[in-house]
Amino acid sequence: MRDLKTFFVRTYGCQMNELDTEIMVGLLEKRGLTRIQDEDTADLLLFNTCSIRDLAERKVMGKLGQLGRSRKKKQVIGVTGCMAMAKKDTLFRKLPHVDFVIGTNNISELNDVIDHVIDSGKQQIRTDDQFEENLDYLVAKRDDPVKAFVSIIRGCDKFCTYCVVPYTRGQEVSRHPDSIVEECIRLVDQGYKEITLLGQNVNSYGKDKPEWNCLFHDLLYRLDKIPGLARVRFMTSHPVDITVELMHAIRDLPSVCEFVHFPIQAGSNRILKKMHRVYTVEKYLEKVQLMHEIVPDVSLGTDIIVGFPTETEEEFQQTYDIFKQIRYSVAFIFAYSARKGTPAFRWKDDIAEEVKQERLQRLLSLHNEICAEQRQSMLGSVVEVLVEKRNRDEKQLKGRTRCWKNVVFNGDDSMIGTLQQVKVTGYSHHTLIGEIAPALSLLKS
Ligand code: SF4
Repeated sequence: MRDLKTFFVRTYGCQMNELDTEIMVGLLEKRGLTRIQDEDTADLLLFNTCSIRDLAERKVMGKLGQLGRSRKKKQVIGVTGCMAMAKKDTLFRKLPHVDFVIGTNNISELNDVIDHVIDSGKQQIRTDDQFEENLDYLVAKRDDPVKAFVSIIRGCDKFCTYCVVPYTRGQEVSRHPDSIVEECIRLVDQGYKEITLLGQNVNSYGKDKPEWNCLFHDLLYRLDKIPGLARVRFMTSHPVDITVELMHAIRDLPSVCEFVHFPIQAGSNRILKKMHRVYTVEKYLEKVQLMHEIVPDVSLGTDIIVGFPTETEEEFQQTYDIFKQIRYSVAFIFAYSARKGTPAFRWKDDIAEEVKQERLQRLLSLHNEICAEQRQSMLGSVVEVLVEKRNRDEKQLKGRTRCWKNVVFNGDDSMIGTLQQVKVTGYSHHTLIGEIAPALSLLKS
């Protein structure tokens, strides 16, 4: 029997994975293990993986393969997360040195699985298709002392044709509002100022549990009542489920930030249909317009895939034109990569890699141009910044505006974790540069 004292964990992928890691770290510490940063000496190695893109998956497989060849002592090795769900027991065939595989819906069983590995000396696998609401969220061990992620819904029912999430995280399961409120109150008591509500589609929250009578906007109204909770954010959204009630909540609730991730994915109706996004460009634009009418100072973010199978140059141009029209302040733009197990995987990936890359670069340049213009237009304005930490060079403080813009400015450490009014005096490639302003009326930017 191996006596485990230390563990090393590496996380790949999105914020959901980061939060799952925080929960698993809490579970392991509860068991008495100490987290260390040295993977060579740790007794347990945990890899919380992502399979949303081919590159992410290849990175993890490369890392795990290399571990089998180079590890210096007998360590327990576990693979969790989306890749664990996608590959299941085939992982053992490719990586026989892996001791356990735990899917996204079974992380609460981490310590039990480790016990089984140690007691039996055999490989273990738990990869349920569906999430059961039995996670101890309160155990999560967070590194960031100012901002916290809180899970409100897991899984996704949308089945976009390119996406593995419905297969790796199962159907939507909302978390009880009382449990969410309890965790948020606790976080505020611990000094957290900003909470980001997480889910693959947070706007679907509560639809699977009509008996709770609590949809996403209702949840926001409950959270806004928590004294001391300065900011609430949420991600990610599906345009179809963004409601007028949600727009009103963003407008009316002081804690809810005026930034909405509104992922269009493509600007052509034919491609949207092929992606199974269940909206048209016209419907999407109507909703964006309504959002601007109800929340005039809102900033929008998006996800875009370029080079989806059969996408023509004209169809890409439609995406480009909509991007230019909406002027997203945040954009995650990717070249399409086929994911095994999705409907789109069966279609010919017929857009040449160099065409995908060229479209990607064109859109990234447009995005950079728009961001520079937005930063330029903010010169002289005063923005509310939640101060997060020292900048990488340690010389300045760093924080974000309500609309997710990075700001750096001079100040002392006592400001970390506080809201400051900062006058924008300049900007660099990705960041606003400012100085502490006297208490003036704030611009929500
Ligand atoms: S809504 Fe998002 S998570 Fe759900 S299938 Fe579509 S892309 Fe994937």
